[in-house]
Amino acid sequence: MKTRIGTTGALVAAAWALPYGLGSYTIHVVDIALIYALLAIGMGLAMGISGQVNLAQVAFFGVGAYTVAILTTGYGHGFWTAALLAVLASVVTGLFVGVPALRMQSHYLGIVTLGLALGFINWITNAEVTGGADGISGVPGPTLPGIDLSSEYLYYYLEAVVFGLALVFGLFVVRTSLGRRLRAMRDDSLAAGAMGAEIPLLRMTAFLLASLYGGLAGVLYAGLIRYVAPETFSIGNMFILLAMVIIGGRRSLVGCVVGAVGLTLVREWLSDFSTYAQLGYGVVVVLMVVFAPTGLAGVPDRLRGVYERRRGRQSVRAELRPFTPYPPVERADGGGDVLLTVEGVTQQFRGLRALDEVSLTVDAGEIRGIVGPNGSGKTTLFNVISGFYRATAGTVRFAGADTTTARPYALSLAGVSRTFQNLRLFGQLTVRENVLVALDRSRTWTIWQYVLWQPGVWAHERRLRARADEVLERFGLSDFAGADPTSLPYGIQRRIEIARAMAAEPRLLLLDEPAAGLNGEEVRQLIGVVRSIRDSGTTVILIEHNMGLVMNLCEKVTVLSSGSVIAEGTPQEVVAAPEVIEAYLGESDLAEIGMDAPGTADRPGRPQEATS
Ligand code: ADP
Ligand code: MG
Repeated sequence: MKTRIGTTGALVAAAWALPYGLGSYTIHVVDIALIYALLAIGMGLAMGISGQVNLAQVAFFGVGAYTVAILTTGYGHGFWTAALLAVLASVVTGLFVGVPALRMQSHYLGIVTLGLALGFINWITNAEVTGGADGISGVPGPTLPGIDLSSEYLYYYLEAVVFGLALVFGLFVVRTSLGRRLRAMRDDSLAAGAMGAEIPLLRMTAFLLASLYGGLAGVLYAGLIRYVAPETFSIGNMFILLAMVIIGGRRSLVGCVVGAVGLTLVREWLSDFSTYAQLGYGVVVVLMVVFAPTGLAGVPDRLRGVYERRRGRQSVRAELRPFTPYPPVERADGGGDVLLTVEGVTQQFRGLRALDEVSLTVDAGEIRGIVGPNGSGKTTLFNVISGFYRATAGTVRFAGADTTTARPYALSLAGVSRTFQNLRLFGQLTVRENVLVALDRSRTWTIWQYVLWQPGVWAHERRLRARADEVLERFGLSDFAGADPTSLPYGIQRRIEIARAMAAEPRLLLLDEPAAGLNGEEVRQLIGVVRSIRDSGTTVILIEHNMGLVMNLCEKVTVLSSGSVIAEGTPQEVVAAPEVIEAYLGESDLAEIGMDAPGTADRPGRPQEATS
């Protein structure tokens, strides 16, 4: 903490002293560099933090700059009024450009946003109101009482203040609830949705942030240069901006700033050789993508990793500690209320009927087993219940409400939580952050607090962190709180997924093959965990191949085969049912069904190497 205050103080002092040593041309370059740094932060927030490929940043920049130019020269507004409206116009543009992100992602989104940027460039080059190819000159600069902002030295201080606030705000977003959700969405939008994140709103928020920074940069640019023309907002500049973000490190806002300032300086320095320079940037970007995908910002971490491996030093000894059971609750009514009803659900994938009129009811307080051969539709049933798939026919009712068409985030907020057959942890988040995403039950609209009531954001954050530590402690994961989850053994990752699902304090927990890849001891621990979860009042539905586990845990088992329910009853009943024996015959050895086999059957697609 002390060193952080020291570093910040030193940076502020350096920023304050900077203009004293610089010539008039150099300060101009620095002013430009700060504007690009703002643009790069916006890019970083959308692309690096939120995973939304945004190639329209120059358009947000342009809307900001042109709005100021048009409103001041054409409509006689003062600079500050125009600036406010310009940022608003830019944000509105950002929301418009973000709409395609609701339907498409990755390179498709890149192409669409690039297309929209091209459309904008075409428009400013040809329209009358934008002055066509000549642009608009004579933009009045900003004025402040007692400060002559026409001096580029003093303008630097205006920029530095805006930039400093914008950077701090960006870092604040990244390190708290909103940023964590954006990063979770980037890593795995399906899992983030299942943890209560409103994905469509978050995607729009990513574009809102990008355009906010783009608009601010545009306003500062118009005030500095007092002249706007299409070439500043060209596709060529869009690629330079992309290069800044990739070279600096898109996942780190500070990296984006370093990339922007560095490349602006290099570009000035090479301005006499601009054609070769463009080629050079391209080569550097390719090399970065291949050899240092996390950019300059990721280099210290990589070096540390190499150093530690050379020294042969293992990270601190960490172990999975025993699970601390939840305090059991006495059910007043002895359970028995229906919590989930699935009625005649059919799920059709083109020619394949993955579920065929499946009906089942699960009582509150039950541990229900779902078994069946591979491909019989078990995971599909979970996907329907948790809102990932919309059933082709039939209804799902949860806790008395019709949830057939509810979105995953809504079901998560209503009390359905799940794990995934093929582990879907947020790979770039720490174990603690994975749990924090699920703990965070706030709705996306509460992000107004980021602008108007930051103490509210902090208070919420502190509460979440305290509870995250409790959850980690209970699940014996405290040693791994700061670890990268995908680097951990398979058994621990399964435990983290259950901890994350339980962090949402669900009424219904869906476990999709939780014992897959676990060893005998881990399976025994899992049985204790699931029992305790149920005794604490959470209903559990469990898909499992390990019949030993099912016999041990479940009071009632539903057997699926080729998408239909073929049997239902106690484990002993269904194992003896002729339909079940027949369904399993083609698949595996009959003896395996009744056996208390630890671990899992050897099935394709199972990452065996992680079994430990
Ligand atoms: P299980 O979990 O019982 O092994 P699944 O529910 O994963 O089986 O799959 C049931 C069937 O539905 C399989 O044949 C699978 O290939 C198919 N299926 C599942 N999801 C999809 C999808 N999104 N698109 C097309 N087919 C799917
Ligand atoms: Mg499955």
